[in-house]
Amino acid sequence: MNQATLILIKPDGLKKSLTGNILTRLSETKLEIVAAKVMRVSRQLAEEHYRHLKDKPFFEELIKYIQGELHNRRKVMALVYWGEEAIKKCRELAGATNPEEAEPTSIRGAYGRITTTGVYENVIHVSSDEKEAEREIKLWFRPDEIIVSLYPTKETTVKEQIVRVWA
Ligand code: UDP
Ligand code: MG
Repeated sequence: MNQATLILIKPDGLKKSLTGNILTRLSETKLEIVAAKVMRVSRQLAEEHYRHLKDKPFFEELIKYIQGELHNRRKVMALVYWGEEAIKKCRELAGATNPEEAEPTSIRGAYGRITTTGVYENVIHVSSDEKEAEREIKLWFRPDEIIVSLYPTKETTVKEQIVRVWA
């Protein structure tokens, strides 16, 4: 069954120059990349993305982490992978959430670490299931940024919207 998953290369992954390595590892899955961009993460987006962890003691540190404040790299690379069993395949390659418990050869096992404050810096995000994938992909991407039609869309007229164009 074809699935989509959000992948984020987190700020520690970018700071450690791991983009190439991570994308090479993910290419083993033979999945298709159907969207990709480098972007800044607003506090609102970070909080919404990690809303299931809002009550955890490490939440504030986690928000700083995904916004790049811990690494002075205020950006992430966001991608959507699509294909057969995409979530399972990508989560397997990513490894366990806790990098100490992750398979040493997995992405998180090889490149992750636990900070002194206790946050797991695990270089990559993968959606946990189909429902979360849909929620997250809709949060991080507009429909026209994805080259396949994943979820239903509708047309709407946006009036007097100011958009930036090339000068
Ligand atoms: N996290 C953490 N400590 C924990 C659990 C989670 O620092 O005890 C961080 C870690 O960076 C993780 C993110 O919060 O990737 C989201 O947690 P989740 O439980 O959703 O794990 P994931 O789906 O990323 O494996
Ligand atoms: Mg998760």
